[in-house]
Amino acid sequence: MLDKKNHQKIKQFVLTKIKDLPDNIKSILETTDLDSLVMNPLMYRPPWELLWANIAKDNVCVAGDALHPMTPDIGQGGCSAMEDGVILARCLGEAMKAKNMKGETEDENESYRRIEDGLKKYAGSRKWRSIDLITTSYTVGFIQQSRGKWMTLFRDKFMSSFLSWLRVKKSHFNCGRLSHE
Ligand SMILES: Cc1cc2nc3c(=O)[nH]c(=O)nc-3n(C[C@H](O)[C@H](O)[C@H](O)COP(=O)(O)OP(=O)(O)OC[C@H]3O[C@@H](n4cnc5c(N)ncnc54)[C@H](O)[C@@H]3O)c2cc1C
Repeated sequence: MLDKKNHQKIKQFVLTKIKDLPDNIKSILETTDLDSLVMNPLMYRPPWELLWANIAKDNVCVAGDALHPMTPDIGQGGCSAMEDGVILARCLGEAMKAKNMKGETEDENESYRRIEDGLKKYAGSRKWRSIDLITTSYTVGFIQQSRGKWMTLFRDKFMSSFLSWLRVKKSHFNCGRLSHE
């Protein structure tokens, strides 16, 4: 295990990993200040946790990496955090609009309950998308990083176009519209 604070060793470690890449890419690392190098472990949430975990509780919810940390293999961590943002905004907007449409004064408990319902709706619509992305990302990484003659042959001959297709497919997600009324 590398010492996170030993920047020189981190640099050497990464250079050995990218030794076969073109020189212009390697030079980025070679010319980077040692102090700028950081190393952190990859984090992901086992997808089954989301089957029973609370995405929203009372008037609090989680979004982005706090909800669905995933391995970086399909490049969807940040994209899905933005999806969360759009959908959360819509669910909260609809919850707030419900009050304006009634036009009556309501007590604090009722507005609390509306926000709670809005967050529950958000949680419901993000659960399976999060499970899907975490699982796909992990599976793609597992296949890509697997070693061995047969696995390499199978992946390079048969799986590479499927993995590329999967990446593109998972990035296509329609968050729906945000109403501005
Ligand atoms: C090297 C790398 C490459 C990546 N490439 C891609 C990519 O190509 N495509 C993609 O979609 N995603 C990518 N990601 C993933 C993406 O960056 C994250 O999924 C995304 O930033 C998560 O957004 P977030 O708002 O949930 O969390 P963050 O961006 O981590 O934001 C959390 C914020 O909370 C702050 N914070 C933490 N604790 C506290 C506290 N106690 N009080 C106040 N503030 C606090 C942090 O400082 C931070 O600013 C990449 C990530 C990395 C590390």
